[in-house]
Amino acid sequence: MQTEEESICNCDFIIDITYCDNFVSLDQALLNSVTKVTGATYAGLYIGEYGVLGEQQKILAETGEQASSSLKSQAALNEWRGSNVIPIELSAGRALTLLLDSNCDEVELKKLSQLLIVYKNQHEHLTRSNKDKLTNLKNRRAFDIEYQLLTDAPLSLDKIYILAVLDIDFFKQVNDKHGHLIGDETLIAVSHLMKDFFLREDNLYRFGGEEFIILFSVSSLEQAGEQLNDLRIKISKYPFPQVGKKTVSIGYIEIEAGVDNDLLFERADAALYYAKSSGRNCIKNYEELVQEDLIEPVNRREGAIELF
Ligand code: GH3
Ligand code: MG
Ligand code: MG
Repeated sequence: MQTEEESICNCDFIIDITYCDNFVSLDQALLNSVTKVTGATYAGLYIGEYGVLGEQQKILAETGEQASSSLKSQAALNEWRGSNVIPIELSAGRALTLLLDSNCDEVELKKLSQLLIVYKNQHEHLTRSNKDKLTNLKNRRAFDIEYQLLTDAPLSLDKIYILAVLDIDFFKQVNDKHGHLIGDETLIAVSHLMKDFFLREDNLYRFGGEEFIILFSVSSLEQAGEQLNDLRIKISKYPFPQVGKKTVSIGYIEIEAGVDNDLLFERADAALYYAKSSGRNCIKNYEELVQEDLIEPVNRREGAIELF
């Protein structure tokens, strides 16, 4: 018979974990619960497989007292195969490693395994609800959450962050001429071209319809312009099956700390709108358009109501 001590099913830890709507708070909730359940004074969550923790491994989240470097290196050397280096197998072959500064006894390990089941379920749920089903890119929900997290954190001083909005030109014609299925294929192809270009996809979002968002960091605004222009050219040269050539227009802006997210987005969108009205198949930067008096600055609307 399971004693009450061994069961944590009704406790607040589970509610804390299932309540999380983004990965950052989910990881933190797991670690908070783990330290309470195991009595560890340090808990860290790392990307990487069991036993291969190393300098290059990325720390996702940490809590409690700072772990000594010897603790981390012992884990890296895989010396402690005991109950303080715990693998977490996620879906699609991805793995995380949980590192604690103390070994767990049998009861603690049981509690831990219950927590990890809830964590993995919530992780999968978030992954699914953050994905666009057609392109498999992240969706608008993920963008809203991650964009907020990015702008809440202090931005790095040696690089700049760019928000770009990319919209396929005359996409409606693809549907009209070739049908919705070929339209869908074209959207998938554009998402592949974007992934290939950036060699990653964690910064790409399908915002809706044939509109995509790119968040990326570069060393200068010129570099951002060069990269986006290269992407535009790459897409314009691609022979889309049945459809042939298609082009995109892009509006972009440097993310500024302290500027309201919606306002930044509206500004990037204003640059996109200008790109559309000036012939499409081009990239436009908001700041440059304002400086050159080509568009009116987009400011917070008078009387805009702050709800929170
Ligand atoms: P513009 O150059 O001004 O952007 O013109 P456009 O034709 O691309 O823009 P418009 O907004 O007029 O049309 C967008 C079209 O995208 C209309 C809609 O049917 C199509 N669309 C939106 N989502 C999907 C989708 O998931 N699949 C397909 N096949 N079409 C979609
Ligand atoms: Mg379009
Ligand atoms: Mg559009």
